[in-house]
Amino acid sequence: MTAAPSIGVLALQGDVREHLRALQAAGARTSTVRRPEELEAVDALVIPGGESTTMWKLARTFELMEPLRKRIESGMPAYGSCAGMIMLADRIRDGAAGQETIGGIDMTVRRNAFGRQVDSFESEIRLDGMEDSPYHAVFIRAPWVESVGDDVRVLGRAESGANVGRIVAVRQGRLLATSFHPELTGDYRVHHYFADLVRRAMEEE
Ligand code: GLN
Repeated sequence: MTAAPSIGVLALQGDVREHLRALQAAGARTSTVRRPEELEAVDALVIPGGESTTMWKLARTFELMEPLRKRIESGMPAYGSCAGMIMLADRIRDGAAGQETIGGIDMTVRRNAFGRQVDSFESEIRLDGMEDSPYHAVFIRAPWVESVGDDVRVLGRAESGANVGRIVAVRQGRLLATSFHPELTGDYRVHHYFADLVRRAMEEE
């Protein structure tokens, strides 16, 4: 039996508290990450929703961009929701001038993609690996994934409206990303899925 994984939440900006609660419900030990030493101390990281340009600027100010890239390159599991998905994308469209990401997932993400039609909406979707019932997904000025490389597994797509078929959940190895906010609904299947992924990664080390 593996000990409860220690999962940090990047706490520069965004809905940190909700992710901490969801991760605790999924059996993880949790902490907030603002400094490189705090990043070193965790087994895995959640990058919350919020505003990706603000998060990027703060990560630069706190000298976290390089440490984040290094840990992800060396195999630390990470999960990004919404703005966090943007942070994990290798390429972004409609970013702010000069906007950088941490990267790690071979995908192109379009920022505020759904927002051109509607700022926020909720929708039932099916998620690969979590299919016991539909998932009630909350989208807030959400990005979508425009294209993915061969190593990226698509876990979910928009299932209704004008944007049906757009990719909203992906996984590449130990990296997971969703356009929506599973921390807000009390259905913590995505956090359980991530905590299991982290436990398996720890067993492999
Ligand atoms: N539109 C935001 C961004 O560009 C993301 C919105 C969210 O995280 N809810 O970062």
